[in-house]
Amino acid sequence: QIGRHGDLEAIGFTYNGIKISQDTFHIFAGLCAVDTKENAEKIFAALAKVGIETARMGAYKPRTSPYDFQGHGRQCLPWLFEMAGKYGIKIIAMEVLSPHHIEEINRALEEAGHPTGVMLQIGTRNAQNFELLKAVGSQHEHPILYKRGMGLTLEESLNACEYIASEGNRNIVFCLRGVRTHLGDPHRNLVDFGHVPVVKRLTRLPVCVDPSHPIGSRVAAPDGIMDIFHVAAQGVIAGANIVLVEFHPCPEEALCDGPQAITLEELPHFVEHMRIARKAY
Ligand code: PEP
Ligand code: MN
Repeated sequence: QIGRHGDLEAIGFTYNGIKISQDTFHIFAGLCAVDTKENAEKIFAALAKVGIETARMGAYKPRTSPYDFQGHGRQCLPWLFEMAGKYGIKIIAMEVLSPHHIEEINRALEEAGHPTGVMLQIGTRNAQNFELLKAVGSQHEHPILYKRGMGLTLEESLNACEYIASEGNRNIVFCLRGVRTHLGDPHRNLVDFGHVPVVKRLTRLPVCVDPSHPIGSRVAAPDGIMDIFHVAAQGVIAGANIVLVEFHPCPEEALCDGPQAITLEELPHFVEHMRIARKAY
């Protein structure tokens, strides 16, 4: 159990040399969807330049329309993992939509000689896909980044995490990524980062915030700072342990979530913004 039923022992883990707990802080930045080798390499090089060893990269994409780009899937894994290793990336957060994808990731890692690690991401659309939750929970190699269901109560999402933990894998990060409301919103979803301390108190899991998906665009406040920066800072000041954020070298060419992708020129500013926010925590 992860703490929902009274077991409040701190939970954290070290994976591929990176410690993740309620006391650590990391930025997982990268592409929403892996498109070209050139773009992936630009991201890894930019991360290496600012000293970041953790990335996000989507190979399998849960799209609203079946006619939209579904991700390159296993085809991109061999070169993606090898390239990540070349740039010193220790963990890639990567969404899986089916237990089959875990096998594909394992095979690609094995064949490449484990140049990097993968944290298996459960997307908000699969937040109550119990068979998938049990599948990621019953393997003990990879940690899990669980994203809160955008239409679920917090209680329901915490119970979904119990499905993972009950299968034996307690290396879980709980990610807040905004929720849908009936109230209308200038953003894509309502930011729920006020729940960072709530989840930390109730579960002792490390908590992640994703500012990209609830905001949904590069819109900026009159101060010139993007809303994505502002809300990410709110999450970090509230004690978030991971920020998961989408970048693209050329957002207009992105095959998924281009409008919310931040450019690589912004990366050092984003990192500095987060550093200051973490200090303020
Ligand atoms: C993603 O991280 O690319 C993603 C699809 O996120 P979510 O499941 O939160 O919508
Ligand atoms: Mn995305």
